[in-house]
Amino acid sequence: MTQPMIDSYGRRITYLRLSVTELCNLRCRYCMPEDGVCKKRHEEMLTQEEMITAVRAAASLGIRKLRITGGEPLVKANIVDLCREAGAVEGLEEICLTTNGTLLPKLAVPLREAGVSRLNISLDTLDAAKFHHITRVGELSEALAGLEAALEAGYDKIKINTVLIGGFNDDEIPALAALTQRWPVDVRFIELMPMYDSGDFGPEAFIPYTVVTDRLPGLLPVPADGGVAKLYRLPDALGNIGLISPVSAHFCTECNRIRITADGKIKPCLHSSDEISIKGMDFEGMRETLRSAILSKPRWHGELSYSERSHAARNMNQIGG
Ligand code: SAM
Repeated sequence: MTQPMIDSYGRRITYLRLSVTELCNLRCRYCMPEDGVCKKRHEEMLTQEEMITAVRAAASLGIRKLRITGGEPLVKANIVDLCREAGAVEGLEEICLTTNGTLLPKLAVPLREAGVSRLNISLDTLDAAKFHHITRVGELSEALAGLEAALEAGYDKIKINTVLIGGFNDDEIPALAALTQRWPVDVRFIELMPMYDSGDFGPEAFIPYTVVTDRLPGLLPVPADGGVAKLYRLPDALGNIGLISPVSAHFCTECNRIRITADGKIKPCLHSSDEISIKGMDFEGMRETLRSAILSKPRWHGELSYSERSHAARNMNQIGG
């Protein structure tokens, strides 16, 4: 099997995040503008065939893990076929998908059958009014129905991603963490990242992950699993609590990932404006472009804070998280 590439700073690059659409059926305030995205022309986006060629090219360079993301990947027509085709690519060991969960009641089983083994489901609150507020349009009941459908479909590991927002959901940390005592899921609290033009969150919204350990004094440390989250567990829990700190304690030295956007731009670093297009290329072209993009990964992305915004020059729905 092909050995993974090592970038210029000694990091093994094994993980591709592929955004399959910029479109979403929600409008989360920290992620995208209210009026959605300026819909790009169809011809500007990667075709399904190009996406699979890109996945093959990445796998030929030693990528082992693929995450399908968006926008909302489940609004993409043929998402099940796309996952099935990606799952057949030689060298890939796992296909994961990140979703807001609302379309899982219909798609959890077909996606599982197509080879998706792990799901991350975004859920920032357990309060219906707050869910509607933060997503601008969403219904909490639909997201929870999706989570239950995923549990019933028998995924290997379900992770709930919660963006920590001071003054919005820090009062719900115990209730969200308690989901790990009710279901076999991990709950991961992720620091709010100051993206491009998303949201009008003030400085009080940007709270560090240590707020979670302060609010949950009973947390027990758990050995790391190779991911970016610091892991803990509540007594009697069925899953872990993960703390992800892109802002207060960046993990760039452990970065093993590369991203491709739905319009065919490789992003060597989430928070850099550097982008390299693979749109229209064949397998060899994509492979060589991916190779040089991996070698161009920066050492780190620079400070992030309320006042030091991401340089990504895109909102998260146009990158995939
Ligand atoms: N629509 C899917 C979803 O809701 O999970 C996938 C795409 S979404 C861009 C991927 C992840 O990025 C979600 O977990 C979302 O909460 C997270 N995200 C988006 N904007 C963020 C921000 N400004 N800071 C931290 N996480 C963010």
